[in-house]
Amino acid sequence: MENTIRKDRYKAVIIGAGPAGLATALNLLKYGVTDIIVIEKYVFPRYKCCAGYITSKTKTAYEELGLSADDCHYSLIKDFNILYKFKSRLKINNKFLYTNRYIDRVELDNSFFELAESKGVTVLQGVKITAHRIDENEVTLSDGNKIKYENLIFADGTCGFGSRYQKKQRRNVAMQLTFPSTAAEAIDIHFGITKRGYAWVSSYGGITNVGMTDVYKSAKDYKEIFCKFLKSLNLDADVENLKSAFTPIGIRKPVLNDNIYFVGDAVGACDPLTLSGLRYGLKSGEFCARAIADGNNKIYKRHIRKLKRKFSFMKILLKIFYLKSTLFFGFNVFCRCFGKSVAKIFNNYFVNKK
Ligand SMILES: Cc1cc2nc3c(=O)[nH]c(=O)nc-3n(C[C@H](O)[C@H](O)[C@H](O)COP(=O)(O)OP(=O)(O)OC[C@H]3O[C@@H](n4cnc5c(N)ncnc54)[C@H](O)[C@@H]3O)c2cc1C
Repeated sequence: MENTIRKDRYKAVIIGAGPAGLATALNLLKYGVTDIIVIEKYVFPRYKCCAGYITSKTKTAYEELGLSADDCHYSLIKDFNILYKFKSRLKINNKFLYTNRYIDRVELDNSFFELAESKGVTVLQGVKITAHRIDENEVTLSDGNKIKYENLIFADGTCGFGSRYQKKQRRNVAMQLTFPSTAAEAIDIHFGITKRGYAWVSSYGGITNVGMTDVYKSAKDYKEIFCKFLKSLNLDADVENLKSAFTPIGIRKPVLNDNIYFVGDAVGACDPLTLSGLRYGLKSGEFCARAIADGNNKIYKRHIRKLKRKFSFMKILLKIFYLKSTLFFGFNVFCRCFGKSVAKIFNNYFVNKK
């Protein structure tokens, strides 16, 4: 584990060694920028609150960077069920959504970290950014070191240090709990549990993962809603281990002062409706690296503008989809009468396009 800084100035300093930060680092190396350092507050293998599903497009994006999802024990769970108010509405033959055998992200993120290190990316672990002097192009770390940068990349998630430079926006809250179980292999997606979100129960290889999302409202007791959900499913699990995190709703400012970039969740590169964010995080890292290597941040701004258009549409869908009338009509009429078409749209648009 590399935990010393050999220099006090870098061409690129990346804050956060999640998928977006490491994708930025790997792409910078690919484009010939080697004078880089990544700062990560945890030590790998580190936990990240995430369902850990990857779509076939996400799988390809990792493969393009040299990481095989198959080697990280990802496979398809065929049985995919959609439920509304606990009643089964649709069975989908899942073709595009892959699940890790531990149904979390620890193995994927750790393998990606090891790949980055093996390719020469230096990750300073167990250290976080504590202060930033924009006028001096300098960050201070929790170990007291100060580093100057030519380019600074915030890849530190929805609510990280970089979020202080962004406007306050709505967020999705997502919670999850994993525990050993003997449940049959399946992914169940539940609607009607939270007001503007979905819940999932996926079981694979002796582990069950239960999760829930909603557009965040501070007055709501999400733990209580989660416990009720578990109880309704007759699942007995210790909620002490319940974890939660935020995901962004909407695109944020991609570049500040011409040399400070935001990638992944830090720029809002996460689908506000499905909460699928891994591929968008990896891609934002790729375009950010290209912009830095070419000295042309328009490359990155253009990429984020495209994403903004896509997510604006998803934000409208988020509003319409969770209207009581849409849910009622969709699950009671549409799923029954046009089940095959709904399954096709679900597979091809909501899963395979992400
Ligand atoms: C419950 C839940 C379920 C999800 N399920 C899925 C899913 O199934 N599929 C999918 O594609 N997406 C999913 N997402 C979204 C996905 O997790 C994110 O979009 C993705 O992790 C974004 O990657 P990132 O690299 O931008 O941020 P992160 O993965 O959050 O990485 C940020 C990194 O920065 C580090 N960091 C933070 N602050 C500092 C600091 N001050 N100094 C140094 N380091 C710091 C963190 O430790 C972390 O390692 C889910 C999200 C949640 C919350």
